[in-house]
Amino acid sequence: MIYNSTRNDGLKVHSLEAVLQGIAQDGGLYMCKEYDNLYQNLGDFTEKSDFELSQAVMEQMLPEFHDLKGLVQSAYQGKFEKDTLAPLKKVGELFAMELFHGPTCAFKDVALCVLPHLLTQAKKQLQCKAHTLILTATSGDTGKAALEGFKDVEGEDILVFYPDGGVSEVQKLQMSTAKGQNVHVCAVRGDFDDAQNGVKEIFHLEKEKGQFKQNISLSSANSINLGRLVPQITYYFTAYRDLLLSGDIVQGQKVNFVVPTGNFGDILAGYLAKKMGLPIEKLVCASNENNVLTTFLNTGLYDRNRTFKKTISPSMDILVSSNLERLLYLLTGADNTRAYMQALKEKGAYQIPDVVLAQLKQTFLCGDCTEKEILSTIKETFEAHNYLMDTHSAVAFCVAKKVQNALPLGTKTVVLCTASPYKFSKDVLSAFQNTQGLDEFDAMQCLENMSNMPIPPQLQNLKGQKERFFDVIEKQDMLSFVQRTMEEMP
Ligand SMILES: *Cc1c(COP(=O)(O)O)cnc(C)c1O
Repeated sequence: MIYNSTRNDGLKVHSLEAVLQGIAQDGGLYMCKEYDNLYQNLGDFTEKSDFELSQAVMEQMLPEFHDLKGLVQSAYQGKFEKDTLAPLKKVGELFAMELFHGPTCAFKDVALCVLPHLLTQAKKQLQCKAHTLILTATSGDTGKAALEGFKDVEGEDILVFYPDGGVSEVQKLQMSTAKGQNVHVCAVRGDFDDAQNGVKEIFHLEKEKGQFKQNISLSSANSINLGRLVPQITYYFTAYRDLLLSGDIVQGQKVNFVVPTGNFGDILAGYLAKKMGLPIEKLVCASNENNVLTTFLNTGLYDRNRTFKKTISPSMDILVSSNLERLLYLLTGADNTRAYMQALKEKGAYQIPDVVLAQLKQTFLCGDCTEKEILSTIKETFEAHNYLMDTHSAVAFCVAKKVQNALPLGTKTVVLCTASPYKFSKDVLSAFQNTQGLDEFDAMQCLENMSNMPIPPQLQNLKGQKERFFDVIEKQDMLSFVQRTMEEMP
């Protein structure tokens, strides 16, 4: 399978290289143009398990990888409750797809359980002997999921940068207490975009100048890596299967997905599922008050020149949504995409032509949601349906209501629930009561008493665990921090 750089069609690799490199030499992301009709090839997939569907998707998108069946097994076995990646629950007229039953209680587990295995396999097949340093910027959830996935993996170290003060208390504790000989964590004074930018620049430097230290190469666990994107396609298929099995839809009937969006990785995976032939009507891009994407999908203007807001859905506090570049590539080609990305870098903005915008609107709807609306959605949904959700999932639920009238009558709508409410306990609890004087663990207990939904042990156990990582640096010091980390590596 050929993957091109989104900024240059001449730059081609196959899937093994794409996963190993993380980002293309020219700063573009790897993307393929043609999507086989996986949906047809699958035939009747109602009998397939989550693991089998995951394998089928990966065989289609990453055909150069050997033994994907074994790889899926070792990635997922025993990590998700009942080996189910994304259970579907009916909440009123909507369906909640719960993506937070993995090791770190956020949807990023679905991909980050797989990525280390893909990287190890790619290195093996390409006979790459270099030690790899995985560089990752996180808005909160990628960090812990990646630390967990890469912990003590042979031949790899991982370094996570997160925005100082920009993640929830539980997210911070999850990272600062991470175990493993090969893991490194550092806070950066700045926001997620600063951290992501810093990481991208370090990659760029490496591609231009070669390795920083002999025999250590860099790769990424962010959703710019193809190996992150592909495993996320699976749950759009499992949701469709579950709706078929429950009799809520019939074969071929189109469904909508509402996706709480930050870096545009999750929703892009949905778009690829649609390209593969899954009957998807609309993909709804739900944003918090950092609503760059809402403006973009309404007007065609992407403009990051605005105030960054710190919200109670911090994993979506992003002004530069990296994976949008892949969508632009599919719709407008490499030359245009390169020009848009150049304009974004130089002026912080670009405008797509109306014809492209019209094309986008055929599939994508959008909407945004204020802090107040997040809290009222959590409260109202709990009171009406006894369903407790986190602040990110609430953005999607709120937007699902807002766009309801724009969706074809009678179509079923699945809302992606991306984190456990216990990851953001204090903010979730504040939808119901004053939380003054409570810490995150008190708030967890209150929520458990209220909802009878058990606190995930991996979050409860954070209490009293020893913190290992305390570094806080300026954003311009990220490169030297990477170099220092390399010096300590084997
Ligand atoms: C990362 C994240 C998102 C946003 O997903 P993208 O793929 O970056 O768009 C939404 N919710 C939660 C809980 C997340 O961790």
